Amino acid sequence: MYNRRKFIKISAAGASLAAFSRSAIADTLIPSNDTSHPIVISTWDFGIVANKEAWKTLEKGGRALDAVEAGVKIPEADLHNHTVGRAGYPDRDGHVTLDACIMDEFGNCGSVAAIEYIAHPISVARLVMEKTPHVMLVGEGATQFAVEQGFKKEKLLTPESEKAWKEWLKTAKYSPVMNIENKQNIQGSKYNHDTIGMLAIDAKGNLSGACTTSGMAFKMHGRVGDSPIIGAGLYVDNEVGGATSTGVGEEVIRNVGSFLVVELMRQGHSPEEACKEAVMRIIKKKPETAKQIQVGFLAINKKGEYGAYALQPGFSFAVCNAEKQDLLIKGKSVY
Ligand code: ASP
Repeated sequence: MYNRRKFIKISAAGASLAAFSRSAIADTLIPSNDTSHPIVISTWDFGIVANKEAWKTLEKGGRALDAVEAGVKIPEADLHNHTVGRAGYPDRDGHVTLDACIMDEFGNCGSVAAIEYIAHPISVARLVMEKTPHVMLVGEGATQFAVEQGFKKEKLLTPESEKAWKEWLKTAKYSPVMNIENKQNIQGSKYNHDTIGMLAIDAKGNLSGACTTSGMAFKMHGRVGDSPIIGAGLYVDNEVGGATSTGVGEEVIRNVGSFLVVELMRQGHSPEEACKEAVMRIIKKKPETAKQIQVGFLAINKKGEYGAYALQPGFSFAVCNAEKQDLLIKGKSVY
């Protein structure tokens, strides 16, 4: 198939071309495999439904920023998703605290960390970016800002999450389980962590990204992972590309993972190579820890090429473009 946007641009460029059949022109001038953008990619299997929502904006020629916000709101609202948004598992004291950040094509960014009582932290992060002189608001201040902006303050702890937390309290052993989002691992697992990180390029070729999570289940109260940290959980540079991460956030923060991936792409590495190198840094710094945890990076470059790499097998990512809206790809891994 051809890229309709480019076709329109090309057919508008020269009046003489109008004499020819439009599709004939398009087929001649546009390579048949040119599906570089719009495109949206995101972490884990739940990325499929999130991408589909983002695609509604992208296919209409909308802005990548709007697409990624709308996309990640799907897992944020999903009552079966215990790693993102309103049904996220609480911290060890029973508080559901959420982390999210967003970044646009101009390098603007906004973030909230450890926000409570607000179901869509990504939208609060966007308003931090657009309506305040700041980049990041945390805890009570973030909730206060959200309420001032008209967000509903509500109890997020679902009966299911509360039950899981009370079960956890019986042993209170802090032990993150890898790849919980992968269905195979959900059965029999009591604890979990995972994040939706989403990157999109719109029809104008502009990039944006969003990242949102409830973090590690039963974490210490006040713990913040990589997901709301610009440069760690998400980074976008409209000249180069974007990257996002999932997994044990402490190791991503130590290596400023997403920024690292984007900088490696700037130096000429492919998205997959850049993600692999970021994963290797984690191994280099903490070889023993790296064997026992999961971290995955996902990246896209300005050309719309994408790739991912993880420490452990089991990481997946979803891709959606004009050709296919529900592609799920198994990420490569070191171990
Ligand atoms: N990166 C998230 C955090 O550390 C959790 C995850 O993606 O698994 O909070």
